[in-house]
Amino acid sequence: MARKKDECSFCGSPRSEVRLLISGLDAHICDECVEQAVMILREEQITSKSTSSQAKADYKLLKPLDIKHFLDQYVIGQDEAKRMLAVAVYNHYKRIDQTLGSKSKEDVEIEKSNMILVGETGTGKTLLARTIARMLNVPFAIADATVLTEAGYVGEDVESILTRLLQASDYDVKAAERGIVFIDEIDKIARKSDNPSITRDVSGEGVQQALLKLLEGTIVNVPPQGGRKHPEQKMIQVDTKNVLFIAGGAFDGIERIIAARNHTNVVGYGKSSKELIDKDNLLQYISPADLKKFGLIPEIVGRLPILTYLHPLTPETMKRIITEPKNALVKQFHRLFELDGIKLVIEEGVYDFIVEKSIEFKLGARGLRSIFEAILSDDMFELPSKKEVKELVVTRAYAEAKFSKSGISKLKVA
Ligand code: ADP
Repeated sequence: MARKKDECSFCGSPRSEVRLLISGLDAHICDECVEQAVMILREEQITSKSTSSQAKADYKLLKPLDIKHFLDQYVIGQDEAKRMLAVAVYNHYKRIDQTLGSKSKEDVEIEKSNMILVGETGTGKTLLARTIARMLNVPFAIADATVLTEAGYVGEDVESILTRLLQASDYDVKAAERGIVFIDEIDKIARKSDNPSITRDVSGEGVQQALLKLLEGTIVNVPPQGGRKHPEQKMIQVDTKNVLFIAGGAFDGIERIIAARNHTNVVGYGKSSKELIDKDNLLQYISPADLKKFGLIPEIVGRLPILTYLHPLTPETMKRIITEPKNALVKQFHRLFELDGIKLVIEEGVYDFIVEKSIEFKLGARGLRSIFEAILSDDMFELPSKKEVKELVVTRAYAEAKFSKSGISKLKVA
């Protein structure tokens, strides 16, 4: 039976009560029903994707030594962290293979190897996690712990982490369930004091408690579009049992905790062990106890069993970062000029200058690119129009002159 001309054939709302009524041959649909239909379609697509995807993993699994070699192409130095990461990732995916494949043995259950990287900001923690995800060809998401809050408070719920992972896997749930999540700035959700819950600590301990479930492995209802903006959306269930979590943080001031512990520990063990401590790089002695003392709850520390550290960047490492990685900055600039038929020649002293300025301005490795850009920006603007120029030679004096004219040279931090 044909519906009345002036109402939605789906919900029956009259034209006067809707914003828009679209007419078809023998029916009408209002704007709200269109929106709902789109939502249903999207959910259908997601569900069919998650059931069609193969249970057997299709990631590439290399041996730890090969993983380390792969990382070496992109990340300079940080050998301890690379070795630990290589083993953790290798074991993690072997464990998944064992659960999915035929090698399953009931008697030994291999536990998850989530890990935590401790090191100053800009030393390559995110780069390591990103590079490993690229190597394995698995979905990868970065979450910033500082924006997470307990459910019900302003900020993001911890489930938002999994929304990102789902988005990274294009809503392929099975792929997301084998993905890698990098949780940055985990140190910022440390408990503010050693004395738990004097006042409610919305952004600290509560978030740690919420994160704990994800790290342990649980089935989470994830809003596919994220957040609380679409309360009507159908949740997707994601099992985090096989998601590898890598947490990273600078843990400013943790050296003091390490020093204090080492100092007390060596008492009674004789003089020699005390002398062995390398005071310039205390991070290498970091232990789970230090993380607890810093304010991570013991359960979280227990769920991030692999603990490793990154070295602060020395000027030599920074110089190598400019030239050595597979997609090193200098290689990128050479290519950019080459595409305009210009040969770029950079003298050795220029790299030293860039490193010096990056340190002086406290920009770390992240500043290297900005300084490079500042030096070359005039030429990148002008030279493509000057057909006669076939070569650009950058000397240290030239770099200094260009840099001092640039905006960043005025940014100096006190
Ligand atoms: P973090 O996560 O430790 O704060 P990132 O991994 O984001 O630091 O590093 C910032 C940028 O600095 C990277 O994108 C990369 O260009 C560069 N970088 C830092 N450390 C290294 C390293 N060890 N090897 C190569 N590049 C590095």
